[in-house]
Formats: sequence, structure tokens, C-alpha cells
Amino acid sequence: MSLSPNQQLLPLTARVNDHHHLTIGGCAVPELVQTFGSPLYILDEVTVRTACQQYRAALREFYPGEHLVLYASKAWSCLALCALVASEGLGIDVVSGGELYTALQAGVPPHTIYLHGNNKSAQEIREAITAGCPLVLDNWQDIKISETIAREQQVRPRVMVRVTPGIDCHTHAYIRTGQRDSKFGFDLEELPQVFAHLQASPLQCVGLHAHNGSQIFSLAHPQDLPQILLKYYQLARTEFGLDFTELNVGGGLGIRYTEQDDPPTIADWVKAVTTGVISACAQLNLPLPKLLCEPGRSIVGPACVTAYTVGSQKVIPGVRTYIAVDGGMSDNPRPITYQAQYRAVVANRMNAPLSQRVTIAGKHCESGDVLIQDIHLPELEAGDILVILATGAYNYSMASNYNRLPRLAAVLVNNGTAELILQRETYADLLRQDRLPPRLRI
Ligand SMILES: *Cc1c(COP(=O)(O)O)cnc(C)c1O
Repeated sequence: MSLSPNQQLLPLTARVNDHHHLTIGGCAVPELVQTFGSPLYILDEVTVRTACQQYRAALREFYPGEHLVLYASKAWSCLALCALVASEGLGIDVVSGGELYTALQAGVPPHTIYLHGNNKSAQEIREAITAGCPLVLDNWQDIKISETIAREQQVRPRVMVRVTPGIDCHTHAYIRTGQRDSKFGFDLEELPQVFAHLQASPLQCVGLHAHNGSQIFSLAHPQDLPQILLKYYQLARTEFGLDFTELNVGGGLGIRYTEQDDPPTIADWVKAVTTGVISACAQLNLPLPKLLCEPGRSIVGPACVTAYTVGSQKVIPGVRTYIAVDGGMSDNPRPITYQAQYRAVVANRMNAPLSQRVTIAGKHCESGDVLIQDIHLPELEAGDILVILATGAYNYSMASNYNRLPRLAAVLVNNGTAELILQRETYADLLRQDRLPPRLRI
């Protein structure tokens, strides 16, 4: 059994070569930076594939019913990733027309692409229905727009109803504190009304969906969630005669960003979910639904590192040493957005002793643009390659052009080969959408 990627700080193929250089997917990181430039996202194909395979293998092992794993592409949406996870038999969940377009362009079968979102536009809903993608209905507006388009096109789109399950989880403080107060999905109390409406609807509603948060380490929550959902799932079948056959429990499994993080394995998470589903079905005398789940972070997070080049340093005696790198909050907004913690290594001197405590700063014009506060690292000089770990999830996908920094290139590494999957933006790209009204020309 291979290691669970979400429990590793480094991608599964990370090694140190004879020159004490970090290698990933058989490629030396300093050489990748030389070839493809800096900073650079380096994505390890083996780690992504292994995570996909572990979700599917665990479902086969622990769940006797039908099942489908969807990759939550908001974690990192691009053609190569959509195609990669689809080649492992995963579907894709998308939350916008742009993510939908990306998955479709990557060749992902439309019936495995689920459109989510708490404020879908009519245009986005039309795009999904036209392509033959299922929808996850979040609110009454979704229902109204989807029904109009379904009538227009004389089709019967497959839909699921998203619910906010927080209300019944009295035992868990983390759910009790405000989970009902969420912008996503229908409140449980509203469901009878929704079900009654769907009895005479051109939409083909096949089941329920819930997703309740991210970077979750507890197994109690994934195990308890199906119980709550299946109660309403049964209500829909018995009281309202709806032909429910699918249950989607969302994603949320956490990953290791620092040594302190100790998430359960992918297999343990799947086991908790399936145990919850199987026991609730037995209790409620229900046939097993087709079970869907939607991991994002745990598929792609641990598979990627970001390589930066070290630049200036500022030593404030007795206070702190700042080491600046050539990227920052534009390529990784997680630290400044929610104080996310990361670890780093020096890719060109993996054997050097950790002799100093430093703070890794970005190059943006914000004092808060700090990637790592207080980390033990070797002596560093300009030109060293600093690699921040576990940057696959919500880095590229949340990246910006703040300070007009071009967005990074990304390479997919495997077996000693590196292939470009995102080309580095150029200055010309930065001006691509700019328009200069003639009267302003100088
Ligand atoms: C964000 C999200 C996910 C994925 O969450 P992860 O923590 O990245 O696994 C799954 N489903 C929905 C609806 C989401 O919004």
C-alpha cells in the first residue's frame, strides 16, 4: 500500500540526488528553474494519480454500491489537471462557467461534470444544460432558471439538491457554531417545500448534496453527515415520490502543510463516509445510493511545490531576518488571506544544516506579504532555490496579477520528464485586456 499523499509534506516522488539537490518526478528542481524560469509551480504526476487511485480503491473496498469520485476543480483548474484526473476515472466538479469551460475543453465527459455555485448565472446554467452536465441546485433561483431553460430546450437535466446539514449536528461544536448560517444550499427546514416543488418539475432530481468545509481532520463529521442527509433522502422518496438514487457527501479531507498537521488517510476518510452511509441505509431500510464525493485539496495539494529564487535579505538585529523571494501573495494568497502555514526546503542545498530562523517574505507592496513566518532554514544567499511545499491547492487557482506580476508557469513532472502545463505570462499578456482610449494617448 503506498503512502497516503495527504499525510506527506513532500510529493511522493521527492528525493535528494548526489549533488544534494531536491528532485521531484525524477527532475532536479534547480534545473527545472533554469529551464522554465522562476518562480515555478512543479506538479508531481505520480502524487496526483496516487491520490485519485486511493479514493477509488477505498470506495471499491468499503462500499458495495455504485460510486463516483469528482475532483473539485476549484482547487486547481486547468486543462492538464482536468484531463489527468479524468484519465484516472474521476468526474469533475465546477463552480463557474470558466471552470466548466475548462473541463469541457479538456475532454472530460459532460455527464461527469457537476455545476455547483451559490449564485449561478442564467448563462452558466444554460451552458451546463446545453452540454449535458448535471447541476447541483443551491437555491430557488437555480431551480427557476434551470426549469425555464429545460422547458426551452425540451430536455430533462439531472440535478441534485444542495443542503446545509448543520442544524442536526448538536453534538459537534464545530458544526453547532454557525454551520446553519451558510450562504450555500437549502436549509433543512426548507426541503419539504423543495421536494414538493420538484414533484412537478422538468428537472430530474436524483438526490442530495452537502459539503461542509475544508481542511477537516476529524472523521466524526464525514461519518455523521450521511445520517442527516439520508433522513431527508428517505423523506423525498417516501413522502414525495421522488426517484432519489444519488448521495454526494462533498470533500474536505485535510492535508499536511506542517509537521503539526496529522490528517487521516484517504482510505480512513472514505471508510468513515461509507460506514456512515451503510449504517444509515440499514437503519432507514434504504437501498445503497450511488455515492459521490468531491475531494479537491487532498488530490492536488500535496502534489505541487513552488520553487522561488532567493533575492534580498534584511537583518533587523535582535528582531528578525527577512529573506525575500521572487513571488508571494500573487502566486500564493493563502498565508495573507487566512494565515495559512507552510514549510520550505532549499532545493540546491538539501544537506545544509538548519542554522537560522528566518521569515520568508514575498515581493509585493504589502507588509502582510509574508509566505512563512519563523522557519528554520540553512544560511541562504541570493540565487538559492527556496521550495515551498504542498502548494497545489488554492494557489494557482487563487493567483492574481497584483503589482502586475505575470502569473507563473507550471510543469508536470514524471519519470525524469517535465512538461509545461501552464505557460508563464508575459508583459504582453498583462496588457492583453488593456484598452487606451485615443484621447488619453500621450
Ligand atoms: C471546495 C469544495 C469542495 C472541495 O473541498 P476540499 O476541501 O478542497 O476537498 C468540494 N465540494 C464543494 C461543493 C466545494 O465547494
